[in-house]
Amino acid sequence: MEKVVIVGSGCAGLTAAIYAARANLSPLVLEGSHPGGQLATTTLVENFPGFPEGIDGPQLVMNMHAQAEKFGARFSYSEVCGYEPADGHIRLLVDDEWIETESLIVASGASARWLGLENEEKLIGHGLTSCATCDGAFYRNVPVCVVGGGDSAAEEALFLTRFASKVYLIHRRDRLRASKIMADRVAACPSIEPIWNTVVTQYVPDEKGEMKAVQLRDLQTQQERLLPVACVFVAIGHDPNTKAFQGKLETDPDGYLLVRHLAESKHPGVFIAGDVADRVYKQAITAAGSGCAAAIEAERYLSELGK
Ligand code: NAP
Repeated sequence: MEKVVIVGSGCAGLTAAIYAARANLSPLVLEGSHPGGQLATTTLVENFPGFPEGIDGPQLVMNMHAQAEKFGARFSYSEVCGYEPADGHIRLLVDDEWIETESLIVASGASARWLGLENEEKLIGHGLTSCATCDGAFYRNVPVCVVGGGDSAAEEALFLTRFASKVYLIHRRDRLRASKIMADRVAACPSIEPIWNTVVTQYVPDEKGEMKAVQLRDLQTQQERLLPVACVFVAIGHDPNTKAFQGKLETDPDGYLLVRHLAESKHPGVFIAGDVADRVYKQAITAAGSGCAAAIEAERYLSELGK
């Protein structure tokens, strides 16, 4: 029987792990298939307090991981596929084995959204990606495009200017949703060309199945045109990762887990942290804060039970 299992190893899960480990609970962190969460695929993080020069996202999560491990957190790359409350504890289906735990912190984060166009799955990795940090360097001196208008799209576009000959930023409205500082940087960057009021209607692969262009529709004129690009970077937001908990833990209509008070769920022993429950702030620092709250709540829960 575990005392605390933490599902997810992004900022929320790792902060929960640091706190739970320092409380001598020896938490087991199930990292899943995307260790480090969204920070692991981002670039410079400039708004995490304590780093006036900024810090690389992957470095930040590696530091948190080392910090949690130092205090006794244990890590496994396993994926949670099922959850059920049992008699006074919790059962989790992990890969193909059930494990039992007194308490659970769900910090499973959120995953990138895709456009839902034809051939999308086939093209992922062949000129279609949601991660500029991972794949940007493969597209040197060729035109690429980013789809989206939020901070992620702005950040990806700016990052891609290091490699690509031209970065088209395709957004369905006439202004960015991104924060002013990011929008100003995009506007000041000569190698980014925004394409406003426009959506991608089709991916166009070459005969080898690699992306060679996108079909665009101008939403004001309804005119369609072909834009040659070697890679499409989709940055249109995220969906919460709740598959293992569906129908078991309460969600809002968009699938975000519902939290009663800070990190507490309705279910005894189940606590929730980070982007899996956050449709508003979605920041590394708020995820870390809620991870801390979840671990403190789990610790209190266990000590009230005398565990
Ligand atoms: P977001 O803020 O939700 O923006 C998503 C963008 O994609 C919006 O511009 C949206 O258009 C567009 N979009 C959504 N669905 C679309 C579709 N089907 N087709 C075309 N466009 C679509 O998501 P995000 O940029 O990933 O950011 C998420 C959160 O993380 C935000 O709170 C952001 O501030 C934060 N973040 C911060 C930083 C930073 O501070 N450096 C970096 C990355 C992310 P509309 O504008 O029309 O809705």
